[in-house]
Amino acid sequence: MELLVVENERLKQELKACKTSLLQEPPPPACTTTDCPHSQVWVWHGQDLTISLSCSPPFSLFSYPIYLALYSLSVQYVTEIVEVESSESQQAVAEAQAKSVALQEQLSLQRQLLRELETQLHDSQRTSTQLRAQILVYEGEMERAQGQLEAEMQNLEEEKNRVIEEAFIRAESEMKAVHENLAGVRMNLLTLQPALRTLTCDYNCLKRQVQDFPFMLEKAITEAKQEICQVIGEVSSANQELLRKYKREMNLRKKCHNELVRIKGNIRVFCRVRPVCRGEHDSAENMVSFDPDDDALLYLSNKVKLMTFELDKVFHPQATQEEVFQEVQSLVTSCIDGFNVCIFAYGQTGSGKTYTMEGVAKDPGINQRALRLLFSEVTEKAPDWDFKITVSMVEIYNETLRNLLGDIQGEKLDIKMNPDGSGQLYVPGLTEFTVQSPEDINRVFELGHMNRATACTNLNEHSSRSHALLIITVAGVNSSTGHRTQGKLNLVDLAGSERIAKSGAEGSRLREAQCINKSLSALGDVINALRSRHSHVPFRNSRLTYLLSDSLSGDSKTLMMVQVSPLVSNMSESVCSLKFAQRVRTIELGNATRRQWENSSTSSSPTHDSVEVTYTHTHTHPGESEGRTHT
Ligand code: ADP
Ligand code: MG
Repeated sequence: MELLVVENERLKQELKACKTSLLQEPPPPACTTTDCPHSQVWVWHGQDLTISLSCSPPFSLFSYPIYLALYSLSVQYVTEIVEVESSESQQAVAEAQAKSVALQEQLSLQRQLLRELETQLHDSQRTSTQLRAQILVYEGEMERAQGQLEAEMQNLEEEKNRVIEEAFIRAESEMKAVHENLAGVRMNLLTLQPALRTLTCDYNCLKRQVQDFPFMLEKAITEAKQEICQVIGEVSSANQELLRKYKREMNLRKKCHNELVRIKGNIRVFCRVRPVCRGEHDSAENMVSFDPDDDALLYLSNKVKLMTFELDKVFHPQATQEEVFQEVQSLVTSCIDGFNVCIFAYGQTGSGKTYTMEGVAKDPGINQRALRLLFSEVTEKAPDWDFKITVSMVEIYNETLRNLLGDIQGEKLDIKMNPDGSGQLYVPGLTEFTVQSPEDINRVFELGHMNRATACTNLNEHSSRSHALLIITVAGVNSSTGHRTQGKLNLVDLAGSERIAKSGAEGSRLREAQCINKSLSALGDVINALRSRHSHVPFRNSRLTYLLSDSLSGDSKTLMMVQVSPLVSNMSESVCSLKFAQRVRTIELGNATRRQWENSSTSSSPTHDSVEVTYTHTHTHPGESEGRTHT
């Protein structure tokens, strides 16, 4: 654009110059005739020289100088025409022609240049117009912005003034409040000064007290120590007195307990009738009945006879495990006092022996309850007494003793005399677990059960053909006196007492039957001999009685739990079991009862009569081929 402006300027200068020259030299008058020298056509030596000079040329600003140039040229030619005839003039014409051609070329070039310049001028004019318009737009915008800015400045100024005014008012009011507060504080300060004086006084007083405190404390501690020592001494002597009384009471309790057991008898016989199980259609309603006023009586009746049995306690079918255990727990705890105890479950297979002894997971039987009770009892006696409870489990099958807690499954054991000369028996290799918690008990039972199950193919059948013994030893030592006790609790789930038909049994089945008969008969014989105070007690007649000999003799206590099935189909076995039970009890209960038994046997009552007449128990001793009664 700058270039164009410069060019334009130059052109304007040129134009100006042209104009000036034009003004100085007036234009030629317009020719109206044909002889006008301006429009003459000259033919020169066969060559056309056309000089067309319009007398009324288009008189534009830009063509005018050219016109002037041509005009002066033609004037020159016209001037020279006079001497055309001469050779010099011809030559001059030729030169002039050549000059003219050159000038024409120059002219066309100038024209072209002129056109280009005109175009450029147009373009630059257009651009300059656009720029001007744009400048105008910008100027307008700037003016508008300026206006806005001014308005904004005005607003801000107003706002500033307003805010300053407000702040000033606020500061004034705050200042007023502060002044008021200050006045209040001054007042307070004046009133607090006396309080401060009393506080200072108190503080000084307290300070003196604190300084004296350690001495006072020391004195108080010494006094308290003396008092405590005195009280401890008193408590200690009271404790000694209490301990003495406790020991005396304990001895008294033991004596009373022994007396009670002596009165009740060392051998006690209970009977438990199991309920009719689901799926058993045999009605037991009329077969077994109970006396509502005497829980020691049980009646058995078939179509023709009513038999009465008297025992120490009869549990009816609805009796719970807990109720049964309540009756045996004094026996269980007596082993803490150093007694040996045997609890037998006797009865035919399916009469509930295992249920009573082991129970079911939800409702455990005597075994678990006894161990738990022993635990709680010995825990109560701690720390005066330190007790250790050990557990063994054995099985007697076909007169062979098997360790149920050992590492070797079904390991056979022997019973031997203790070499220490004490006359005690012991079982070498018998596993004894020390149990310290109820969880230990569960583990022991699980292990015993598992070992018993894996040693046979049919556990139910096998368990009914073997005796299972849980032997719990409770050994204690008194921490203050050093006194020692040891008691043993034998919990025995006996083999089924049912009689095997001799004709049908053979081989291993016959041997099993013989072994069971042998051990149950031996048990009856041992009890008989003990109670009759025979000089010889045949403990050695079976593994069971031999193993339990120290728990059956002396002041040991025995409980026979006779299990009875309520089913009519089991009637004859139930009669046999109850007769066995009654005989055991009769032996034990001494003369008065024996007399009663003898009386009843000779009484006119058909039931008792029939009991005596019909009773033939078929447990046999080894070597005996005939069945024999126990008594
Ligand atoms: P045993 O050991 O004398 O062969 P079980 O203890 O196995 O007899 O009892 C036989 C069945 O009778 C088992 O199913 C047992 O659960 C059930 N049973 C025994 N006594 C009771 C009872 N008092 N209450 C409920 N069910 C019993
Ligand atoms: Mg059983």
